[in-house]
Amino acid sequence: MYNLEKYLKIEDIDPIMTYEEYLKSYINNNNRLVLENFIEKIIQQELLYEEIAKNRGLYQFQSKVDDNSALKVALLNLYKNQLSKTNSYKHKKYYNEIVKIAKNGKCPYCSIGYVFPGNATLDHFLPKSKFPELSVSLINLVPCCMDCNKHKGEIFNEDEKQQFIQPYFDNINSERWLFVEFNFNFSQLNYVIRNDNGLDDVLIDRIKFQFKKLKIYEKYEIQAIDELREKLNIVNSDNSKLIALLEEFNDSYNRINVLNSWKKALYARLRELTIEECQILMNNFK
Ligand SMILES: [Zn+2]
Repeated sequence: MYNLEKYLKIEDIDPIMTYEEYLKSYINNNNRLVLENFIEKIIQQELLYEEIAKNRGLYQFQSKVDDNSALKVALLNLYKNQLSKTNSYKHKKYYNEIVKIAKNGKCPYCSIGYVFPGNATLDHFLPKSKFPELSVSLINLVPCCMDCNKHKGEIFNEDEKQQFIQPYFDNINSERWLFVEFNFNFSQLNYVIRNDNGLDDVLIDRIKFQFKKLKIYEKYEIQAIDELREKLNIVNSDNSKLIALLEEFNDSYNRINVLNSWKKALYARLRELTIEECQILMNNFK
């Protein structure tokens, strides 16, 4: 059972139905004929995708569409015609449902960027330029923020450890792996990914790959420093104020439910500070 089924409320998610519905209103007759002849292959490829995605093996997926073929052109045009936001897409139903997958309007890749309804970018998890048969496959379409879409681009590595996290199939939040460290005598804040709690090592490598490629470390650090400055600004160096502040850090930590969010990781570190460390931090960041 992949996560998409949980999110998508439409009943006819069946790939055959979806694909045929796309084709029904497709105007270009030459392309349509090419696409109709490919229906069976599309279904096979989608089933294969689902099967190997469950086993985290999408790096092994092979395209069955020749480069420079009429079929490739037809498939890319099908996406452009039916789902691309830059066109008057006819299948808003699918587009809107995919956009809704983004929980609380946040990007599934970085969890911090926004997915704006009506103006969301859809990412092809496996890029459509290399895997044209997946250009309109719902299981391969991920709503994401503009930044992630731009940074991810056409990146696709044929290596187990260098794969992005597929939000519909890969569960990475069963364990805590995101941590904040203060370096250089509390003058620098850094996010680090550590496998302290026994998550699969390959998944950890993939999370690191994603953070690096999509520049998520930087995004989190900017947010965290901003949050920290705001908190530190409200107190003076009075000891009782610092004690109250440390209690507040602990309360904030307990209130945040999302295990590997930048905020939870920040407060996990802040609540462990001593009064002396808190004082140094205040001098450095206030
Ligand atoms: Zn993002």
